[in-house]
Amino acid sequence: MFDNINIVLVGITHPGNIGAAARAMKTMGLSKMRLVQPKQFPNADATARACGADDILFNVQVFDSYEESLQDCHLVFGASARQRMIAWPVLTPKACAEQALQLQAPIAIVFGRENSGLTNKELEHCNYLVQIPTDNTFSSLNVAAAVQVITYELRMEELKQGNFDSPLPPPVSAESMEQLYQHLEQTLIDIKFLNPNHPRLLMRRLRRLFNRTQLVDSEINILRGILTATQENIK
Ligand code: SAH
Repeated sequence: MFDNINIVLVGITHPGNIGAAARAMKTMGLSKMRLVQPKQFPNADATARACGADDILFNVQVFDSYEESLQDCHLVFGASARQRMIAWPVLTPKACAEQALQLQAPIAIVFGRENSGLTNKELEHCNYLVQIPTDNTFSSLNVAAAVQVITYELRMEELKQGNFDSPLPPPVSAESMEQLYQHLEQTLIDIKFLNPNHPRLLMRRLRRLFNRTQLVDSEINILRGILTATQENIK
């Protein structure tokens, strides 16, 4: 999942933050990390803070040049805590996730140095800035925490679009639902729960109930099995 989304960390000073960012990424299903001029890497602190996400550190791509780290990316988001001198289009993490998931090509989400963030020159390479809406008086998150918030929104967007890790089978066809309703109606008549001369709104209410649940094949089979057993046992 998210194989086209690169998390790019620029000029990170504390290797522990690299590990923590890897951990944040892995919990949200991301795996592609790029580092631009990390102060110390590889490093035991990075591995320790990654916990079980050291596979991300193992596969990390390290770059000397910021431009090179973005070369193959078709869309670049720059995460920034501050408003900049020159206004740049700013997105919330949620809006960033919506845009990011529309594209299948490689993209980058860039995070800056712990003490000074991204330079204005670096931000010029970004199509959009992404700003986590914080309290006005204190806007700067730890870089790994910022990675967590933004990757969480990517995950939420992915879930919203229905791309689950272990997808439910698709809901059954309208034809299968109609067969279920006919079978149910007949069974309810057979057991004298439904009077066909005075049906009232019973079937409509039951349709509303089952239509809310989006049944899958195996569930329809269970329900139809119960109805058949009921019919056989009242004979
Ligand atoms: N003092 C720096 C903050 C650096 S925090 C500054 O003023 O820019 C390290 C990185 O975490 C930032 O470069 C940014 O990529 C990310 N980050 C921190 N807080 C953020 C926020 N509120 N919104 C978006 N990104 C944030």
